[in-house]
Amino acid sequence: MLINLGHVTDVEDENYFPSEWKTLPTVDEYPPTHFWDDGSPKRHWCFLSEIVSATKNLLGYQVVVKDYCREEHITVLFPLDSGAADVLRLESFQAGHTLAVMNARRELLHNGTWGIHVERYQYPGVHIFPYTHDNTVAIAQALLLIASGIASCINCGDELKHGPPTRCCASCRLAQYCSPECQDSAWAYTGHINECVAYQDRALQALLTLDFTTYSGPFFFP
Ligand SMILES: [Zn+2]
Ligand SMILES: [Zn+2]
Repeated sequence: MLINLGHVTDVEDENYFPSEWKTLPTVDEYPPTHFWDDGSPKRHWCFLSEIVSATKNLLGYQVVVKDYCREEHITVLFPLDSGAADVLRLESFQAGHTLAVMNARRELLHNGTWGIHVERYQYPGVHIFPYTHDNTVAIAQALLLIASGIASCINCGDELKHGPPTRCCASCRLAQYCSPECQDSAWAYTGHINECVAYQDRALQALLTLDFTTYSGPFFFP
């Protein structure tokens, strides 16, 4: 049986997934697009970036990332005094993987550059996806199409003819086939074996199905 993901947020929606890091509010700013008058968040946003390098020094883990615009390198600092070393592993910050930081804000770091300072209480809202930024976006877009019911057959690419019973991948139960013939040949001839694992990424599914439009507390990755 096909899984119903429910509502999936478009990863290309700039309100919720800002592609340019400069559009993140600073820690001193409370723009009405993001905050209520009392300073509480109105909604969620998630900053997705691709890890370039990660080092550890006296201050903490300094993870250099690039945003989707790839214009500059940004430092994301996980200070050791807030216990980064107890919770996060430096080896987890692998180059080419995607770092997600919920409700990220910009601030001037002690080295004089602007970056993102992540405190321990924010760690549950931080996740590393083991895919490049491009691939994370591609998987998210594929899940959006599936959730919207406008996906195509992953074998032949034909538009799916709707109506039960839907033929879906027995493993992810998300990818669909237009016919039993396509279902039989798909595994061998398409790249679905790779995307199949990514489709089942619980952290990605949880992020994409979050209601970004309201805020009733921080989002924690599963
Ligand atoms: Zn087909
Ligand atoms: Zn599958």
